[in-house]
Amino acid sequence: MGLNEYRRTRQSARSPESRTRQPRRRRGGKSGPQFVIQHHAARSDHYDLRLEIDGVLVSWAIPKGPSTSPRDRRMARRTEDHPLEYATIEGTIPDGAYGGGDVIVWDRGTYANKTDHAMTKCLGRGHLSFHLHGKKLHGGYALTRVREGEDETWLLFKRQDGGAGAEGNPVPSRPE
Ligand code: MN
Repeated sequence: MGLNEYRRTRQSARSPESRTRQPRRRRGGKSGPQFVIQHHAARSDHYDLRLEIDGVLVSWAIPKGPSTSPRDRRMARRTEDHPLEYATIEGTIPDGAYGGGDVIVWDRGTYANKTDHAMTKCLGRGHLSFHLHGKKLHGGYALTRVREGEDETWLLFKRQDGGAGAEGNPVPSRPE
């Protein structure tokens, strides 16, 4: 997808996105590509999951947010790739600007690819399997593409493992 769509839709002077700083190096954390989940209180409230793949943040908007229950399937709409610096973005994107609304970093950490193929190849094939090392989310997750084209849609689900929880929805109880 590249960053062209991202750049086309942003007027950098209007938005906190122009005040990016380099992501800080983690101390004592697991190494690996980073992931971030940002709560985005836009016109329709959602959570943006972003995975670092080949130098960009490949992104999905998840209306209900991630679940910790393996029984749940969460709809995840693919959105434009974002620059890596976006992983630390918090603040208010002004009304009228693209994606206007409050953004907070809801969870952040690293992930490990659980397949034998490069993440880009998995993206093309429409199936990702990865292990999150976050502050709120831990363990295996999978993303499967269910619709291609303009409304590219995937389903996010939790694998059955130690990081799984029966309560399913960490979002309302841990919105901070
Ligand atoms: Mn968003």
